[in-house]
Amino acid sequence: MATHTVYKEPAPLIDRENPLESMMSRFNVAAEILGLDEETYNVLKTPDKQVIVHIPVTMDNGKVRVFEGYRVIHNTILGPSKGGIRYDKNVYLDEVKALAAWMTWKCAVVDIPYGGAKGGIICDPTTMSAGEIERMTRAYTLALKDVFGPDRDIPAPDMGTGPREMAWLMDEFSKTVGMTSSAVVTGKPLVMGGSLGRTEATGRGVMVSCLAAMVKLDMKIEETSVAIQGFGNVGSWTAKLMFDKGLKIKAVSDISGAYWNADGINIDEAIAYKNAHGGRLEGFTGAVPMDPDELLTSEVDVLVPAAVEDVITEHNAPYIKAKLIVEGANGPTAASADPIIYAKGISVVPDILANSGGVTVSYFEWVQNKQGFKWTAEMVTERADRIMSDAFEKVYQTSLKYNISLRIAAYVVAIDKVAQTYKFRGGF
Ligand code: NAD
Repeated sequence: MATHTVYKEPAPLIDRENPLESMMSRFNVAAEILGLDEETYNVLKTPDKQVIVHIPVTMDNGKVRVFEGYRVIHNTILGPSKGGIRYDKNVYLDEVKALAAWMTWKCAVVDIPYGGAKGGIICDPTTMSAGEIERMTRAYTLALKDVFGPDRDIPAPDMGTGPREMAWLMDEFSKTVGMTSSAVVTGKPLVMGGSLGRTEATGRGVMVSCLAAMVKLDMKIEETSVAIQGFGNVGSWTAKLMFDKGLKIKAVSDISGAYWNADGINIDEAIAYKNAHGGRLEGFTGAVPMDPDELLTSEVDVLVPAAVEDVITEHNAPYIKAKLIVEGANGPTAASADPIIYAKGISVVPDILANSGGVTVSYFEWVQNKQGFKWTAEMVTERADRIMSDAFEKVYQTSLKYNISLRIAAYVVAIDKVAQTYKFRGGF
């Protein structure tokens, strides 16, 4: 007989700052600069909808395990909500709420007609078979069939999910509506309506916004060194595209460890090694192992955190030597580190700007699905690069106008757009 257990990991690490509080503290500063009225403030700070589901899934051993899943719709003032789905054992509701709000601000910064959402399931996909993950994904989709929709809420991949999961989600949702619904999800495999350029889009946006910031800081490509934390989708593509541009990548890391080469790491070799070794850098010989914590404070010009939240904190911020931080990950800097970084004169291209290339090309995928037409890789790249450069310039000019950091400027740009639209649309 099947047994029922709810799979739930212990609470997240105690010394991790709550990402929702991190997000809100920046939101509050930007709201004050904009002189946001109380009514709009209250509307924008609160998620529209939070759904918690418990999904029974038959595991390969015949037992039923009940997984807890979330979908938070932060805001739909600018359009249908958009945001990834994370499979991770440490997913928790406040994190999903913060990530959903960041999606609202991200879409507004790059000026695409989406609101923000995020989803997640508490699970450890590394210990699950493909069949178990497929059944869990289909069950999650069914549980949320009234939330998802091509004009309502459009999921995408995030940590622990990719094109495979998006294909299952699209198929399951399509069954519930009795027709193929390609535009319900982005990040699909290319053959079933995915967009050219989506896989590398986030890393490409990180690279484009990094180069734009380097121009403002008068940093020369050939004299610039970089350390990148995380070697998954975002980290490895950022590394590859920066390497191809001629930047010297001195350090890379993933969950298996960190690697340093003062002469620069050959990123093509690192990617080939990772692909041949189960997606991990463990044992990489093109560099020497280093303490993973030291990567963040290493002797480089640019630091790219592209793994998880809250890795730059008030404890290590005083020791950061980079002149520029470009945030590939969502929320890698705890709010308590902001004043330290600002006082040190380090420029930060914030997550809601730097990693928005991914949602931009997701938007292109959705547009193509709705058009029933495919764009060329050149069209995707050219349009995405233009959106990223325009967004960077707008945020940069806003930072000069108010004499504020790029991070707060990005929030000011985003909140201003959503607040203005809210005023036109009106409430009850
Ligand atoms: P991924 O699962 O492909 O890769 C994560 C990488 O981080 C892996 O290499 C993993 O080994 C590494 N990692 C995990 N914990 C680590 C640690 N403590 N130290 C060093 N490395 C560690 O995920 P991804 O899609 O690359 O996402 C990374 C970050 O970027 C997340 O914050 C995600 O929300 C954000 N993001 C992703 C996209 C996207 O399009 N994939 C878009 C916007 C933002």
